[in-house]
Amino acid sequence: MTLTVAIVGRPNVGKSTLFNRLVGQKLALVDDQPGVTRDLREGEARLGDLRFTVIDTAGLEDATDDSLQGRMRRLTERAAEMADICLFMIDARDGVLATDELFADILRKNAKHVILAANKSEGKAGEEGWLEAYSLGLGEPLRLSGEHGEGMEDLYQVLMPLADAYEAKEQEEMPDVDVELTDEEADAEVEGKSRDFTTGRPLQIAVVGRPNAGKSTLINQVLGEERLLTGPEAGITRDAISLRFDWGDTPVRMFDTAGMRKKAKVQEKLEKLSVADGLRAVKFAEVVVVLLDAAIPFEQQDLRIADLAEREGRAVVIAVNKWDIEDEKQQKLKDLKESFARLLPQLKGAPLITISAKTGRGMERLREAVLRVHDIWNRRISTAKLNRWLMDMLEAHPPPAPSGRRIKLRYMTQVRTRPPGFVIMCSLPEKLPESYTRYLVNGLRVDFDMPGIPIRLWMRSQD
Ligand code: GDP
Ligand code: GDP
Repeated sequence: MTLTVAIVGRPNVGKSTLFNRLVGQKLALVDDQPGVTRDLREGEARLGDLRFTVIDTAGLEDATDDSLQGRMRRLTERAAEMADICLFMIDARDGVLATDELFADILRKNAKHVILAANKSEGKAGEEGWLEAYSLGLGEPLRLSGEHGEGMEDLYQVLMPLADAYEAKEQEEMPDVDVELTDEEADAEVEGKSRDFTTGRPLQIAVVGRPNAGKSTLINQVLGEERLLTGPEAGITRDAISLRFDWGDTPVRMFDTAGMRKKAKVQEKLEKLSVADGLRAVKFAEVVVVLLDAAIPFEQQDLRIADLAEREGRAVVIAVNKWDIEDEKQQKLKDLKESFARLLPQLKGAPLITISAKTGRGMERLREAVLRVHDIWNRRISTAKLNRWLMDMLEAHPPPAPSGRRIKLRYMTQVRTRPPGFVIMCSLPEKLPESYTRYLVNGLRVDFDMPGIPIRLWMRSQD
């Protein structure tokens, strides 16, 4: 059995488009299979290294108006029953319609797990609708564009832990062939099956850096003796891009960009692959460890990937490797910190750790830094606290009054985590200068202790 995801939502939000993207060439139509109605299409989906079954409920389009409601309800209930996860899609350009609310109710009652997605989110046009989607009360909406392939990494991020937990459950629940259960016992087992797949989520880490920075050495070091002896490739499928293990007592999934690169035979292919893998790893990761070589730190390529990680909203740790062969460590550290502040001001406050992947020195500090930034990245601040804070900020430094009308910032709330994102309800948001937004973001960073973490802040007008 594989994890099953049903794409549900009203006609024309883009379900089939996403289905086709996930399934690619290997589209399997199952019309003629017994028990499956024509309204449901099923296919094998690929997303990064994830494989799952996807069900498309797009068959509603040919419904006549008066039959639509009933069919929609039946179809959605059916999909919810078949699937482990319902990916509930709205059209970000239309915003939340009454029909969407109806769907939300059906799913709340029937689905085991719902992922909310605001599709057609490419460009600016979808932003309002995406924010509106919060009002459905189904958690944080993903921003997707099925047509343009945007937001696929975020979808992956949400699905991966669910897939992991599902897999772990499947293994646990694998029937023991030596034990014969009575029918009652078998039923009892099924009854006890948890409907929640969210527990046991591994922390996703990408180790990125230039060739020879020491990525493989670092990964082998944290994997430990056991894995080293069998070789990092043991038990890993060919197209796997990640390794899963416990780092100390933290379950992690580490993206091994170096391992993949080393499999490439041809030199030029190798370079291309290593850049592409680095980028992909950043998108799939929660925490990005930028590994520098102490002898040649902050090279162009290092700066590019660190900047990308910040722009993608990932938590970043800078690890300076090969510290074992540095003399004059104190002066060197001072220089490093100075270069870091000058060359990567956007990551101000992110941890910079010196390590030796070879000797293992600094591994515990690296682990702690990773956990710390991950924790901040996931932080949620209460609306009450935010609004008290906003009042203080407004008082300390009132917003400007362009042409005599003072811009009013009325209400603030955190709309997302990973990384933290906030919305402020505001009159005349387009008149608010960039410098004022910066003042607020910097204030948030300092007052809520979120150094080195990308923070998103949106101003939204009140209608
Ligand atoms: P379904 O009825 O929910 O399966 O929707 P379809 O997948 O058939 O898409 C409906 C329409 O929306 C089609 O014209 C698609 O090309 C368009 N569409 C789908 N996804 C996107 C998207 O991400 N952005 C935009 N702008 N249009 C999209
Ligand atoms: P990758 O290309 O980033 O995966 O780098 P490797 O892990 O293959 O390491 C490149 C070279 O640097 C190898 O010769 C390693 O032995 C060496 N190396 C890696 N880490 C350290 C370290 O902490 N100290 C020293 N002295 N050498 C290291």
